[in-house]
Amino acid sequence: MSLSHTWILAVSLTRTPPPRSHKKTLANALFSKIAQSLGEAFDLSPRQKTVFECLKGPHAQEFLTVISIEGLGQCMSAVEYRTILKYRLMIPMYPEDETCPICRKTCMDKYGEHAVHCKELPGFKYRHDWVRDVLGDILKRAGISAKKEAPVNFLTDPMEGRSTLRPADLLVFGWAGGKHACVDLTGVSPLVGLRENGFVVGLAARKAESKKVDKHAKACAENQHVFIPFAFDTFGSLAPEAINFLTRIQQVIHSNCSTPRGQGFVFGRLGFAIQKGLAAQLVARLPSVLM
Ligand SMILES: [Zn+2]
Repeated sequence: MSLSHTWILAVSLTRTPPPRSHKKTLANALFSKIAQSLGEAFDLSPRQKTVFECLKGPHAQEFLTVISIEGLGQCMSAVEYRTILKYRLMIPMYPEDETCPICRKTCMDKYGEHAVHCKELPGFKYRHDWVRDVLGDILKRAGISAKKEAPVNFLTDPMEGRSTLRPADLLVFGWAGGKHACVDLTGVSPLVGLRENGFVVGLAARKAESKKVDKHAKACAENQHVFIPFAFDTFGSLAPEAINFLTRIQQVIHSNCSTPRGQGFVFGRLGFAIQKGLAAQLVARLPSVLM
């Protein structure tokens, strides 16, 4: 090993963590303190308590740090950005008891929870597809070979058999031990069935993750593929498998270009995509006076 290599190694071993992590630790401590005193000083509703917890979920705030870059699809209109901030801060956006202008079946609620669940297009499929496309682009830019909507002959609903055969959202080639990986995306709202007690942050995404595993992991293994569920919620919290997947992509990027500035950008970009997808659902149902 040359002298310069030894020096670089010694510096990297003795290096203190970058200042960003100190800032982050401080910001997290401050945010927890503020959130805690809010609970003591005000009589918060179960919904408010729950959303405060959600905002502290793993990676839920990463999107706030991204830089607006149009070429990466990493930009939002002012209305979109305002709308997702309102959703996160529980500022009422919709007149209550008015019918959803898209499905014309269900009543809107003032915080927009129906908009998140409304299965009618536009929006529902868009959120899923947009996050999938951004994830595909992240893989491509990291130099990882992957294909969107890749036909495989074993992804089905096990209850209904081969009539429900469908492609993998993303097929990542040679991802684990030379095996291809089927990545399946699923987005959920953590506020479904919100009750006064017993709310656990991240549980909705983790449940969605294990449901996907039950459904597809066995078929993938039998066909020499790896299954990766990619579950997230509307506040941007990620389930553990999704975090592992992105962490590994981030490591690939780091090993290709050793710039510390890139740290965490994968999570920021993906988090932004989730919020942009959510914004489309919320904005499509906004009353025109708020546009
Ligand atoms: Zn609707």
